[in-house]
Amino acid sequence: MAKTFTRIETKLIHAGEPEPRIQGAVVLPIFQTAQYEYAGEGRYEDVRYIRLNNTPNHLALHRKLAALENAEAAIVTASGMAAISTALLTILRAGDHLLAQEHLYGGTHTFLTKDFAAFGLSYDFIDGDDPASWERKLKPTTRAIYVESISNPLLHVADLKAVVAFARAHDLVSLIDNTFTSPINFRPAEWGFDLSLHSGTKYLNGHSDIVAGACIGRADLIERIIPRLGHLGGTLDPHAAFLLHRGMKTLAVRMRHQNESALKIAEFLERHPAVARVNYPGLENHPAHRRAKELFNGFSGMLSFELKGGADAARRFIGATTLPIVAPSLGGPETLLTLPATTSHSGMTPEERRRLGVTDGLIRVSVGLEATEELIEDFNRALKA
Ligand code: PLP
Repeated sequence: MAKTFTRIETKLIHAGEPEPRIQGAVVLPIFQTAQYEYAGEGRYEDVRYIRLNNTPNHLALHRKLAALENAEAAIVTASGMAAISTALLTILRAGDHLLAQEHLYGGTHTFLTKDFAAFGLSYDFIDGDDPASWERKLKPTTRAIYVESISNPLLHVADLKAVVAFARAHDLVSLIDNTFTSPINFRPAEWGFDLSLHSGTKYLNGHSDIVAGACIGRADLIERIIPRLGHLGGTLDPHAAFLLHRGMKTLAVRMRHQNESALKIAEFLERHPAVARVNYPGLENHPAHRRAKELFNGFSGMLSFELKGGADAARRFIGATTLPIVAPSLGGPETLLTLPATTSHSGMTPEERRRLGVTDGLIRVSVGLEATEELIEDFNRALKA
């Protein structure tokens, strides 16, 4: 009888696995061979070669990722930025224009502001909360609209339903960076997005030990991304593919713990007298809480906050914590703290950061898998210090 997998927990384990298992291996082994014997392939993309992203390790991931988001197709990439840049450079051609949410991961922001012009591309930033203002930024050359499911590092949640409706009304391709939510909390294809992009480095892999990415969505768009990725060369190495595959199997249990733990930590910080502001869409007073509740199955393990004492107090707090590691990136088992102004968003000018609200004292937390109570005790001690 054909196997069917309905729930995401089951798909994480079984969807996309080779049938029959290769040599009976329960875990798909690493295919560490650059090339394969020619078997009569007609198209260049079908020639089996690591750069063409089509080893058994890649193909299993493509099937699993598409199944997780209930999408038509998927492709893995060498990094989140490879997914983002290759997708945008496929959808857009010289002369085209992009509408992008103004709150973006720093690397994506600087890709638009620093690199786009060299490809003959242009962009305008939009306020994700104000769909009425988007039409004014539309040009005859606008081809796509780009947002993040939860923005990095301020945890904004744009009006995602309006993004899809606007894209459909104006014949634009809708792209969303789904890294912060992961397929456990949000599945963009179910809400009508054309392409979902991931830094697989984060929650998908979940172990802080590789860099990877993915594009998931409409099959016709993925088919166009495949040859562009082959030419730009942003292919995932089979060993990294193996680790991503292994990491993804525990995504549901990890993500649920991180959702719960981050909510408890956000609630603790919100009550603390030294804290000026907490950004977490799971909090009832977050401006987009109701929207996030409707769209998402959880609010992620990411939060950011500011202390009343500003940047000096933030540095003292970080120095006084003992459990978290001060490091960029997110989504792994270790709780990480960063000041985005000096890491993920340091490519922006100080004026750009100020305008967007990324203050020098903003602390970003990636909540890991430690015991929540111990993290809260540690934060409490550091806040007193
Ligand atoms: N998107 C988001 C939301 C991110 O936070 C990051 C990295 O921090 C990226 C994309 C880029 O991913 P990578 O570092 O895997 O290229």
